[in-house]
Amino acid sequence: MTGRLSGKTAVVTAAGQGIGRATVLAFQREGAAVRATDIDEGKLASLDGLAGVSTHRLDVMDAEAVKAFVASHDAPDILFNCAGYVHAGAILDCEEEDFDFSVNLNIRAMYRLIRGFLPGMIARGGGSIINMASVASTVIAAPNRFIYGTTKAAVIGLTKSVALDYVGKGVRANAICPGTVESPSLQDRMRSAGDYDQARAAFIARQPMGRLGKAEEIAELALYLAGPESGFMTGNAIVIDGGWANA
Ligand code: NAD
Repeated sequence: MTGRLSGKTAVVTAAGQGIGRATVLAFQREGAAVRATDIDEGKLASLDGLAGVSTHRLDVMDAEAVKAFVASHDAPDILFNCAGYVHAGAILDCEEEDFDFSVNLNIRAMYRLIRGFLPGMIARGGGSIINMASVASTVIAAPNRFIYGTTKAAVIGLTKSVALDYVGKGVRANAICPGTVESPSLQDRMRSAGDYDQARAAFIARQPMGRLGKAEEIAELALYLAGPESGFMTGNAIVIDGGWANA
């Protein structure tokens, strides 16, 4: 298959639904061989049998599982660390276990996967690391997103640090900072708010464009960051948010 990522390999975490899944499809469409990973095999099932895509159960919070995954696969050209969790609440709502969970899923998992694959990437002459942050980070604060925004800010710092330290080794690292994007977990958040319609209207209202983002729109940015077209970009946190941060 020929395409913008022809001959490239990619690893995507949280590939079972939402932005991760849309990105697997974009990478696959452009010719990459994609290892789609998720904690939930059921969610990966719809990717099974797609040419160039292999699916793997991987809990990115499980250090031993990450170690085993890294040991059994060559380092990819593209690593998309997409897994993340939205804890709802301000600092007073964030218990120690909520803090630890978000730090472990939103940051530590990226640290482990990057540490695991980076030596192989360097040995092969480089690669592109894409980390999922959010506009709720260093860019803006969102209400009741204390530990989410804190961890996503850390993702930007992590990304910049890796980008700087390995710029001479051909490794690029960039972060994506989306606004609110239609996804199954967003649906869950809107349902759990009590009044679904009101919650949906509130999510839409904070985006000046007057609509939610689409997972496919974020996937196209990931595709750009993965491929040679973005070869001069590293250490960036790219905002894609329907104008939210600009309001
Ligand atoms: P989602 O939240 O609907 O799906 C997340 C996927 O992650 C699921 O398939 C789930 O099974 C998987 N997952 C959960 N825990 C895991 C673990 N320990 N190991 C591996 N996989 C695990 O998808 P989404 O809303 O597209 O979010 C994906 C990423 O994008 C997250 O990092 C999120 O913070 C970020 N993001 C989302 C939005 C949004 O509005 N949807 C906005 C900004 C950033």
